[in-house]
Amino acid sequence: MKIITTIEDLQNIRKNLNKSIGFVPTMGALHSGHISLIKKAKLNNDITIVSLFINPTQFLAHEDLSAYPKDDLRDINICEQYKVDYVFMPTKEIMYQSTDEVLIKAPKLSSYILEGATRPGHFDGVLQIVLKLFNLIRPTNAYFGKKDAQQLSLISKMVKNLFLAINIIECEIIREEDGLALSSRNIYLSKEQRKNALTLSQSLNNAKKLILQNENNTKTIVNAMKNILKDQDIEYLSIVDREFNEISKIQKNNTIILLVVRFGNTRLLDNLWV
Ligand code: AMP
Repeated sequence: MKIITTIEDLQNIRKNLNKSIGFVPTMGALHSGHISLIKKAKLNNDITIVSLFINPTQFLAHEDLSAYPKDDLRDINICEQYKVDYVFMPTKEIMYQSTDEVLIKAPKLSSYILEGATRPGHFDGVLQIVLKLFNLIRPTNAYFGKKDAQQLSLISKMVKNLFLAINIIECEIIREEDGLALSSRNIYLSKEQRKNALTLSQSLNNAKKLILQNENNTKTIVNAMKNILKDQDIEYLSIVDREFNEISKIQKNNTIILLVVRFGNTRLLDNLWV
């Protein structure tokens, strides 16, 4: 496995790669969710590249970027263990020059609701870094988790609108045995919060059960979920179609139930694709 830290090295290496490339962009603090993406990339490509970069432009001014978990050595070891070919870990000075004046804007409507409502401008930063990484790595396939549903949708839109020749591969949400979706932020939970955090997956499982019993009224489903989440600090709970429009009836294969619950300063996000 080779670790790349400069743009020049990456471009030189990329020039000589004439094989299929699977790319997994991450902010590090790797867990089994990230590893599932890496495994999928390994399985379906000749070369696998993982990026480890905490992207400053997707954090808002009041969000504590420096508090984001970081353990490069551990991440490198994990990549080595799963036989990643290249790890790209640039500094922010390399990724963002002071002359960085050309910016990409996330769509006005779909990126200022849900995640974008609490974190306005967040998706501008996400698209900016993903586009830069795509241009450098020029992957055949790029792997993203369905856990970040809105991010996945906006990246797919960018690829389509800008005619990028990259396949976006959607990957299933990986969970702990008890149902909690894996997240780099889970380490911040106290014992009590960790226990309460199970209400996210429990409420989604209950929604799934209701839908299997042919309940299709989204209000009824939201109410049943809120019942399970009753003592929790819900930031949003929304049932939308894959274009992120609120819907009143469940549409099979075109519905996402999204929720964010706060535990102290930690926001946990989970969702169910129906
Ligand atoms: P992050 O490092 O949080 O930016 O995440 C990097 C990638 O891993 C994104 O595409 C996420 O959607 C994906 N990811 C994060 N958590 C999970 C999970 N529990 N299951 C599947 N994919 C995940």
